[in-house]
Amino acid sequence: MTTPAIVVVGAGPVGLTAALTLSRRGIPVTVLEQGDELATESRASTFHPPTLEMLRDLGVLDALLHKGIVASTFQYRDRRGGEIATLDLAVLSEDTPFPFRVQCEQSKLTPILLDALDTADVRFGCRVDGLLSTDNSVVLRTVQGPIRADWVIGADGAHSAVRHGSGVEFEGSTYPERFLVASVEEDLERALPGIAPINYLFDPDEWLVLLRTPHHWRVLLPTPADTDDEYELRRLPTRLDAVADLGRPWKVAHASLYRVHQRVADRFRHGRVLLTGDAAHLNNPLGGMGMNSGIHDAVQLASTLADVIGGAPDERLDEVAAQRRIVAVEHVQRTSHDNWNRLRESGGNHRQQLKALAADPVAARTYLRRACLLDSLEPRP
Ligand SMILES: Cc1cc2nc3c(=O)[nH]c(=O)nc-3n(C[C@H](O)[C@H](O)[C@H](O)COP(=O)(O)OP(=O)(O)OC[C@H]3O[C@@H](n4cnc5c(N)ncnc54)[C@H](O)[C@@H]3O)c2cc1C
Repeated sequence: MTTPAIVVVGAGPVGLTAALTLSRRGIPVTVLEQGDELATESRASTFHPPTLEMLRDLGVLDALLHKGIVASTFQYRDRRGGEIATLDLAVLSEDTPFPFRVQCEQSKLTPILLDALDTADVRFGCRVDGLLSTDNSVVLRTVQGPIRADWVIGADGAHSAVRHGSGVEFEGSTYPERFLVASVEEDLERALPGIAPINYLFDPDEWLVLLRTPHHWRVLLPTPADTDDEYELRRLPTRLDAVADLGRPWKVAHASLYRVHQRVADRFRHGRVLLTGDAAHLNNPLGGMGMNSGIHDAVQLASTLADVIGGAPDERLDEVAAQRRIVAVEHVQRTSHDNWNRLRESGGNHRQQLKALAADPVAARTYLRRACLLDSLEPRP
């Protein structure tokens, strides 16, 4: 039986960030990943300013910037009436050295993190099936045999075996509609002149989101919960034509449907187990908060763990775990759910508010500090 000091379960963006945070502090870490390689799925694609600061501190920001697109503005639009308001992240220039979002798929960040983890023991094809915790250690049941750890960081995603094995509840709800995300090989700036790299289009019947990524535009559409997947993919071309008529079918590189949940673990620490990222909380993707807040969990909990290993009181971990849960509920869930509600509204009231916001840099700054999670990190530990 091997005896690693710290085991991170899951080599997604959150697990690899936790591992790199520990590794940069000189603490040996083992990462167990069930897949035979890093995931390549198209998922999160927005990096907010505080996440960019954290990635800079870990020494991986330049590599990400090299692969991504800088988006300084985002836009609210009425699906029928066009632009409502364009918000410029430049109003955050006193709050962050990076007053912009970076558009880049999470599957481009994970290889960068893995490369930076050159001294860590990263084991692919190693699924964790359960665990047994005592006061001082945890034994993980894996397909490669039992592995004992002094501490475990669960970063194994929505269906987390670490969370299940720790008996932590994951309460919440599932949205009444699925989301359909299509990556398209079209120049939407030409098809819809005046759009920003990130656009939220309001419509009570069919809201949508248009996001630029380095090689595609992504279109996010609500889709009924109970229809057949094949039927939905067959009718996608008609729905895309309704977004912009190109005079020919849109070129779709990839499309998938998924269910969206709002759930939070009842605690983020269970003895020697810490929960981070999707293993600890799930939210809808509107506003790009899932991966970002997960990376914040990873940095804050892994740095605090490094402090505790270095002699800081163990209670610091309780405090930070409790604070990260508050962020998940009061910032991430609340803001992403408000974003969903707002996209479906038909009234003009909040549109007037957004117009007023775009015209008032002080109000825009307050709004954007919350939207990009800067506020959720105050006071910074
Ligand atoms: C379609 C889609 C679009 C999204 N868009 C956005 C967005 O725009 N912005 C945003 O911030 N978020 C977005 N999200 C959410 C974002 O993708 C997740 O929040 C993010 O992937 C969480 O990272 P993670 O590392 O916690 O989990 P994951 O990325 O799920 O990684 C978990 C890892 O653990 C591994 N694993 C799982 N179980 C085990 C086990 N038992 N043993 C060992 N390994 C295991 C998995 O193979 C995986 O590699 C989106 C999600 C989806 C599905």
